[in-house]
Formats: sequence, structure tokens, C-alpha cells
Amino acid sequence: MTKTCIACGMPMRVTEDYPLGNESKDYCAHCAREDGSMQSYAERAAGMASFIARTQGLDEGAALGAAKALMARLPAWAGRA
Ligand SMILES: [Zn+2]
Repeated sequence: MTKTCIACGMPMRVTEDYPLGNESKDYCAHCAREDGSMQSYAERAAGMASFIARTQGLDEGAALGAAKALMARLPAWAGRA
């Protein structure tokens, strides 16, 4: 069963892609807290921004803007941005 994470858009193909291996969830392990619940908008934006800053060499402000632009297209955050 393959789903697309509602919070980051990543395809979830294997059990390990799901939070705590729970395939009933619509978000991936990267978008979950340690207890398996979904991260908040602010938590996800910060996580995505640090990933973008690291991989694309953007400064923090630019990375946060890019993260929010990406998130605006994802169902979990529709209407937030
Ligand atoms: Zn995700």
C-alpha cells in the first residue's frame, strides 16, 4: 500500500516510512513526533526549513519561506499559509 504523506508529500512505500510503523496514518515518520502524533505546522516548517538550509545552503529566513511555500501545496496545511 502506497500513500503520499499529507504533511510533506513524500511517498510512503514501506512500513518504516510510517510513524511507529503504523500504516493507518496519512503522514510519514519524518512528520511525526516521537510518540507518533503529527507535528504542528510550526514544527514541520522549522524541520523543513533546516533541511532546506542544509541541502540548498539558504539562510534561515529564505529557507523558512521556501518551506512554507512547499507546505502551502500539501493537504495537511491547506489554508495555513
Ligand atoms: Zn511527511
